[in-house]
Amino acid sequence: MRLLLLEDDRMIGEAIRAGLKREGFTVDWVQDARAAAPVLRSEPFELLLLDLGLPGGDGLELLKSLRERGESLPVLIITARDAVSDRVAGLDAGADDYLVKPFDLDELAARIRALLRRKSGRPSPVLEHQGVMLDPAAHRVTQRGTEVALSPREFALLQLLMERPGVILSRAQLEERLYGWGEEVESNAVEVHIHGLRRKLGGQFILTVRGVGYRLRPVT
Ligand code: CA
Repeated sequence: MRLLLLEDDRMIGEAIRAGLKREGFTVDWVQDARAAAPVLRSEPFELLLLDLGLPGGDGLELLKSLRERGESLPVLIITARDAVSDRVAGLDAGADDYLVKPFDLDELAARIRALLRRKSGRPSPVLEHQGVMLDPAAHRVTQRGTEVALSPREFALLQLLMERPGVILSRAQLEERLYGWGEEVESNAVEVHIHGLRRKLGGQFILTVRGVGYRLRPVT
């Protein structure tokens, strides 16, 4: 799950990025409001973590312009502005959630998971498909009750496919959702992880759609 963090405080930004990486998220980080808009238009982020007091513009204005463009990306405001009127203004400007600094990283991660769950329209925090259960909070996968040990990338890739059970995702789409800026990506990285998942979950759990991409085996 790839997130964009817009935060100008270096220490807070480093802490959030490191903490969320441990939770399995890929976090790209910009520190200036002007840098955020073009990035949001060109990259497939699942969610925006938005500070309000920023160089290059106000976070609230950025949020309003996102919503005016019809952008439905979930936005979680992270700010030191703790007045009730600030929270109300943030939520009414189109934020999906609002967290006041300082906050606990576990709570931040849990709120992100809740927003992503709501975005995908599923009621349960655990994903299930054909006997495979994936728990994003516990970082745990089981197949018919038996624990399956996955690498962090295999886990992230499986989650991407399980969030969209009927959808075919191309190699490029998977790649840009798995890897952040500056991460070394081998040209066959996605194939390698798919191969690893097939070895662990069975060859038919993920299907190759020739010339298009990958999808989960449909429920018959
Ligand atoms: Ca700030």
